[in-house]
Amino acid sequence: MARKAGKKTSKTSASAAGTTSDCEAPALPAAQELGKWDQRYFQICAVVASWSEDQSRQVGCVIVGPAKEIRATGYNGFPRGVNGKVDARHSRDGEEKYFWFEHAERNALYNAARSGVSTEGCCAYVSLFPCAECARAFIQSGITELHAYVPPERDRKYARSFEVSRQMLHEAGVVLKLFEKPKEPFVIQP
Ligand SMILES: [Zn+2]
Repeated sequence: MARKAGKKTSKTSASAAGTTSDCEAPALPAAQELGKWDQRYFQICAVVASWSEDQSRQVGCVIVGPAKEIRATGYNGFPRGVNGKVDARHSRDGEEKYFWFEHAERNALYNAARSGVSTEGCCAYVSLFPCAECARAFIQSGITELHAYVPPERDRKYARSFEVSRQMLHEAGVVLKLFEKPKEPFVIQP
């Protein structure tokens, strides 16, 4: 309140906003056991991810409504109509590929938007922990719960992004449930 009242007069509030404690991500919740429905949606994530033309990392996302109905899916890839057959566009040298690829999470949200499906109050399943950009997209699209595999301990490109993502999801009140990625393919439960 006080900060908004002043006109950039307070040095202390400006410096406080930039302290590292503001940037520390909360501790990750403990990984849970995969229940039947979690297995089902992660299975679908795996199938959808397999459609990705990304040569280094294939990710799938499934957005589920409160009645367990699937509202949208997405995988990482080129925007529709953009030529994904150009090798240079897949190159991580100079980070070229990041200009071309859209992430699975945002593609799922865009697919929902294309068909006029609301994602308000939905749960998102993702086979890789969301980056900061996708976390922002989830929050702004009304996603209230996120089920993801435990984020990789080290990630050359996304380590800091995963931290910021966790922090934002936490502050926005998105319920986060983590699961260990199964080493073996799922056995479909009846
Ligand atoms: Zn992302």
